[in-house]
Amino acid sequence: MPEVIHQLSELVANQIAAGEVVQRPASAVKELMENAVDAGAKRIDVRVVDAGRTLIQIADDGVGMVRNDALRCFDRHATSKISTAEDLFAIVSKGFRGEALASIASIAHVELKTRHAEEADGVRIQIKGGQLTDELPCPAETGTTVSVKNLFFNVPARRNFLKSDAVEMRHVIDEFHRVALAHEGIHFTIQHNQTELFNLKPGTQRQRVVGVFGSKYDERLVPIVESTDVFSVEGFVGKPAFARRSRGEQFLFVNQRFVRHHALNRVVMEAYAGLLPPGQFPLYVLFLTVDPSRLDVNIHPTKTEIKFDEDRTIQALLMPAIRRGLGKYAVAPSIDFDQESSLNIQPLDTSRTVSVPEVRVNKEYNPFNVKSEAMGQGGLRPGRGQIDAWKSLYSDEKFKSEEPKKEEWNESPLPEVVPSSIDGFELSPRGDESVGEVRPMFQIQKRYIVTATQSGMWLVDQHRAHQRVIYEALVVRLESNASAVSSQQLLFPELVVLPLVDRDFLLESTPWLNQLGLYFQKHEDGIEITGMPAEGESQSAELVDAILSEKDSNSSGISRPERVAAQMARSLAVKPGRVLNAEEMEDLLNRLFGCSTPSLDPFGKAVIAIFEMKEIAQRFN
Ligand code: ADP
Ligand code: MG
Repeated sequence: MPEVIHQLSELVANQIAAGEVVQRPASAVKELMENAVDAGAKRIDVRVVDAGRTLIQIADDGVGMVRNDALRCFDRHATSKISTAEDLFAIVSKGFRGEALASIASIAHVELKTRHAEEADGVRIQIKGGQLTDELPCPAETGTTVSVKNLFFNVPARRNFLKSDAVEMRHVIDEFHRVALAHEGIHFTIQHNQTELFNLKPGTQRQRVVGVFGSKYDERLVPIVESTDVFSVEGFVGKPAFARRSRGEQFLFVNQRFVRHHALNRVVMEAYAGLLPPGQFPLYVLFLTVDPSRLDVNIHPTKTEIKFDEDRTIQALLMPAIRRGLGKYAVAPSIDFDQESSLNIQPLDTSRTVSVPEVRVNKEYNPFNVKSEAMGQGGLRPGRGQIDAWKSLYSDEKFKSEEPKKEEWNESPLPEVVPSSIDGFELSPRGDESVGEVRPMFQIQKRYIVTATQSGMWLVDQHRAHQRVIYEALVVRLESNASAVSSQQLLFPELVVLPLVDRDFLLESTPWLNQLGLYFQKHEDGIEITGMPAEGESQSAELVDAILSEKDSNSSGISRPERVAAQMARSLAVKPGRVLNAEEMEDLLNRLFGCSTPSLDPFGKAVIAIFEMKEIAQRFN
């Protein structure tokens, strides 16, 4: 029998590897940009012609290569980044497999121009389909420029497989964003067919994120910072109100490498439980840092999959980190949150004459007389931290410690117009000494509470507001494992007739239903309710229906008890059509602004609509 096995040629081996490493122009862009980052570049310019079919060029000002390295870098498994197998567990560079250049060179025409920082001259090398065709010394700046022409010229199947220019370019830009987001200290530009698409100057992480997504995003970002012995995380998550119907704005980086990690993605989604309607995805750009020895990135040639030693620990820590961030900032309507808006600083107007600031002292100020203070000076300062101000005005003890002191927002008095009546509407002045201010507050359509701050007019949906309040109270009880203190004993147990399966479901769920304030006994026809949550206006049968509506659901992310809490809240909350008196409205708003997310009901719907003074004034123009 003739022998049939032989060694594949280097070229064929490289082309096979290229199939994994370089699937489309975007993959080459990624690999070459990562090489530039690894070379310590401060500036990286990407040029693409015809979505990368005709040309992909990456120029960097990194260390460059000496002649022999420049020749060697196209060899398979040629790398400067690791030498032993142990090094695999201490990877700090993007590359390490020494495959990218060999692969790219085997399926394209490549020109490499490079000069090492310590060499006088540079070198220019041309390779076509893996064959060296030209090598010449040449003058060059320190750094490296790799030009890839006619990608897939010798792999027609691949070439024919490419999608439209628009689609391929979308992929190129995605890869560009991933590298750029992880390296905010590097200046990146990208140009397509002579048009500059992005020019991202070095800056802060926030500036980079805003540079990539657009200036509108500045106000949408909630900063996240957390660090423990095991890992640290920083970055941003998006306010729930700006969530999208697709996952396009979700970026997770581990040690500055873009990765896909299903479990961590789920953790982020879980952190948003109760804040988003189903089918909506929040933005996130999160940077995890972990000890490289605890990380395996060598799972796939493209290196976007990873394994952690401590997957579970990291997952467990990520969730509270995001929750805390959201709790602090995502509280509410975005127009009131311009904290940390580093990009919004106006450039200094040099033509303006600068005068010494005037010191104004309010001799009338008496910290113990909150009422006269608030009345005389308008009480609330508008703009920055409006919600914070609201909270301290309305909230109970639990917020006091975190809030700005009253003096802070009282110090530069602005006149506030607090109308005592509005034509056609009865105002209910609250006249409450402890709150210290007369604020218009009334109900329209037996459904919305209208009130005003200096920033504008607020409409609060009473039904949704109450749902949010009840929901958070119930969830606290679930989390604290406390027995339901605020359950109301019924004088006469109420029978709710149920099919057996429903009854059994309730019986099995007894422990957490008790935590939610519902007490009941088994009855041959169903259950007998002996205690109901103290808050709310629901009938027992209606409440049981609400609970059973979650019996068969299994939406991901949020636990069944929490989903039931949301349904119970909906059932218990005051309904539209219920007249509220002044005290009830005030109490509801007090408690709403004590919630972690007052702006949304448990199902992600808006609770508050704000009509800004600006808008109102415009209406009268
Ligand atoms: P890897 O990045 O996995 O090491 P590559 O094939 O991408 O493999 O690159 C091979 C080697 O070529 C790198 O290890 C590096 O030493 C060198 N190299 C590649 N690109 C550059 C660059 N832009 N600047 C300096 N050196 C580079
Ligand atoms: Mg590389």
